[in-house]
Amino acid sequence: MHVLVVEDEKKTANFIAKGLKEQGFVVDVVNNGDEGYHLATTEPFDAIILDIMLPGRDGLSIVRNLRERHNHVPVILLTARSELNERVEGLNLGADDYLTKPFYIEELTARLHSLIRRSAGESSNLLRAGDLRVDLVTREIKRGDREITLSPREFSLLEYLMRSPGRVLTRTQICEHVWNYHFDPDTNVVGVYIQRLRAKIDADEEVKLIETVRGVGYRIKEPKS
Ligand code: CA
Repeated sequence: MHVLVVEDEKKTANFIAKGLKEQGFVVDVVNNGDEGYHLATTEPFDAIILDIMLPGRDGLSIVRNLRERHNHVPVILLTARSELNERVEGLNLGADDYLTKPFYIEELTARLHSLIRRSAGESSNLLRAGDLRVDLVTREIKRGDREITLSPREFSLLEYLMRSPGRVLTRTQICEHVWNYHFDPDTNVVGVYIQRLRAKIDADEEVKLIETVRGVGYRIKEPKS
């Protein structure tokens, strides 16, 4: 999942970016409000983490302007303990949630997952395909009774595939979504990671869930139940 962080305190921004990347998020960080607003209106993010006091456009103006443009990307405001009025105003303007600094990264990721889920209209933490279950909050993965351990990047790839069951995702889409860079036709990074996922998820199973669509990309098969 692709998250934009708009925060001018370098230390806080780095702490958030590092923590979210470790959890498998793809993160863009900018340090001023004008740049943040520009990115938020030109690129699709799954969520925005937004400081209130920023050089350039401030966080509250960004929320107001996004909502005026009918951009409903989930927004979490970062506020100082003293910014009670701003916090309330932010929620009234259409922010979805707020966190008071300092906070634990676990709390931020839990709120992010819950917001992204809500905005995708999902009612549960669980993604399923056949007997494969992925819990987005605890990050537990099970195929039947067998527990599966994935690296953060493998987890992101599996999550991306499982959010669109049955749909073929191209290597370009996967690269941009999971690696956050534009597709280099010479790289086989997607193929390598698909192989790793297969080894962990499909290798000893009768029903193979990860399907290659030749010349196009990959998809998670939805087995008939
Ligand atoms: Ca600030």
